[in-house]
Amino acid sequence: MKILLTGGAGYIGSHTAVELIKAGHSVVIIDNLINSSEDVIKNIKRITGTEISFYKLDLRDDFSCVFSGHVFDACIHFAGLKAVGESVSLPLRYYNNNLISTLNLIKTLENHNCKNIIFSSSATVYGTPAEIPITEQCPKGTCTNPYGWTKWVIEQILTDLHVSDPSWNIVILRYFNPVGAHQSGLIGESPKGIPNNLMPYITQVASGRLEKLHIFGNDYETPDGTGIRDYIHVVDLAKGHVAALKALKKSSENQTSDDNGLLSVYNLGTGRGYSVLEMVNTFEKVNGLKVPYVIEGRRAGDIGICYSDPSKARRELNWKAEYGLEEMCRDSWNWEKNK
Ligand code: NAD
Ligand code: UDP
Repeated sequence: MKILLTGGAGYIGSHTAVELIKAGHSVVIIDNLINSSEDVIKNIKRITGTEISFYKLDLRDDFSCVFSGHVFDACIHFAGLKAVGESVSLPLRYYNNNLISTLNLIKTLENHNCKNIIFSSSATVYGTPAEIPITEQCPKGTCTNPYGWTKWVIEQILTDLHVSDPSWNIVILRYFNPVGAHQSGLIGESPKGIPNNLMPYITQVASGRLEKLHIFGNDYETPDGTGIRDYIHVVDLAKGHVAALKALKKSSENQTSDDNGLLSVYNLGTGRGYSVLEMVNTFEKVNGLKVPYVIEGRRAGDIGICYSDPSKARRELNWKAEYGLEEMCRDSWNWEKNK
């Protein structure tokens, strides 16, 4: 299949490009490089040995020129701004970028008769989860920041779109906490400035770029008091998209009328939670490094425990995460030290 990847130069998009190519698909990438660089495209080529069609464009602008050279079977929509803290201080920037680019994308896909889309959503739509592990049915719409609201609103837009035109095939993927990097060390996560997320902070402390890790709270109701999350290796996450694409393809091929397209939502996580201290200890053990840390107060808006029930994706997509915490820590460090 020929797949349009929006935001394909980013962290998850680049790993997904590699897995799609490995699975025999071809990819075309649109990215405005607001949070990535053209080197990523070169490195996807190096890993896969395949030429990549890349367009440096903003999805909020007219990008129909891309369709003059390609006929797409499906689109995977990664593009968006994703920094939770920044979204609180710059909400309009987030609503503008994430919503307008999605609306423009849907219209453009429709104009070119491509009605198959996979959307990158997030566990953030569950807000403070009503149940653990979190199933797809868990109540939503209580987001704690503008970034989360953009994800929830886009899910709603896609759901309404499907109601109005059921010929669309739509898969919504709710990611838990992606970490790690491709084993080549050529692509990985490159946060600009001081990282907000735990794993890039740990790797930058290990490399000496940052002095010590600040652990946000050790008084949660967890075995060691630190927060628990469902970390997933980004390569596993990327493979989840290949599996979702298979379901999308099957649905669109079996579509006998205009009213039986697919609308499905899946959690992509491991189903296993690790605490901050478990992350630090495993990182130190696997890589033979020290990660100095200090315990501080809780971070505003944080929840204590968040991990997925990924069984729906296992049942329906025949996908499950394969990598464990040790590989996540090893590959994160391999990327950091190669940078
Ligand atoms: P990323 O920032 O590395 O990649 C996103 C890419 O989109 C970047 O390369 C950026 O330049 C591009 N982009 C942003 N706005 C654009 C626009 N208007 N037009 C064209 N390109 C644009 O982020 P990521 O970690 O790869 O995340 C991919 C998607 O997954 C995002 O939608 C994000 O919200 C979602 N997500 C990420 C995480 C995570 O922890 N990384 C968790 C849940 C969901
Ligand atoms: N965390 C931390 N120090 C940091 C960054 C994160 O202690 O510098 C903790 C955070 O409180 C949470 C976990 O690590 O319990 C994961 O945080 P992250 O921001 O990576 O993911 P999210 O909270 O968005 O799920």
